[in-house]
Amino acid sequence: MKLVLLGPPGAGKGTQAANLAKKYQIPAISTGHIIRAAISAQTPMGKIAEGFIARGELVPDDTVLEIVRNRLKEDDCQCGYILDGFPRTLEQAKMMDEHEIGVDVVVDIEVPDEVLIERLSGRRECKKCGATYHVLHNPPKVSEKCDQCGGELVRRSDDVPEVIRKRLAVYHSQTEPLKEYYRSQEKLTIVYGQEELAETTHAVLSAVAEAEAGL
Ligand code: ADP
Ligand code: ZN
Repeated sequence: MKLVLLGPPGAGKGTQAANLAKKYQIPAISTGHIIRAAISAQTPMGKIAEGFIARGELVPDDTVLEIVRNRLKEDDCQCGYILDGFPRTLEQAKMMDEHEIGVDVVVDIEVPDEVLIERLSGRRECKKCGATYHVLHNPPKVSEKCDQCGGELVRRSDDVPEVIRKRLAVYHSQTEPLKEYYRSQEKLTIVYGQEELAETTHAVLSAVAEAEAGL
């Protein structure tokens, strides 16, 4: 199955991508994750991306397409994939079609802006494995340490108020039009992110199971 997760920053796409990856035994591919790793390693691509991320802007479409195409060449993508954070512009969706990167089901996780701002402001990420926490809603067992791997938890440099506002504005103007794009292809299924994570997880898994049954 070829899945795309759509939704604003902070909607919980990463968490749901991990749940789906486990259930369907296909890889979850996060462009944000790959880009941050490239920035840490200061690769040529990372150096290009750095400024865009710091400003809360999108990285250029051709750069991201290249990242995704390279990742999809790997063996583990043979039976499908979950794309978390790609496509994020209409142009990217069209590039996917041109390069025959298939999409079966698109799950859009909707969360109001006020909730997103609060979530992103308290979010912490493991430097090593990328697992996410929230200082109030989902704190780690040991302060500032990852429950899963013991890695150090840090605040992403783009999880600060000014950049958060910019990312939300970019989402509404550049990514939201994708909903219409996939709705017209009858691939879109909408899930409303709930306060309780388990409820959102249940809603996402049911929506995908239902969509899969109709494929
Ligand atoms: P979030 O969804 O919380 O904003 P991500 O980790 O998905 O976080 O992405 C972080 C940043 O990486 C984005 O703000 C953007 O600059 C860049 N990025 C990720 N995916 C894409 C994409 N498909 N196109 C352009 N830029 C991207
Ligand atoms: Zn970790």
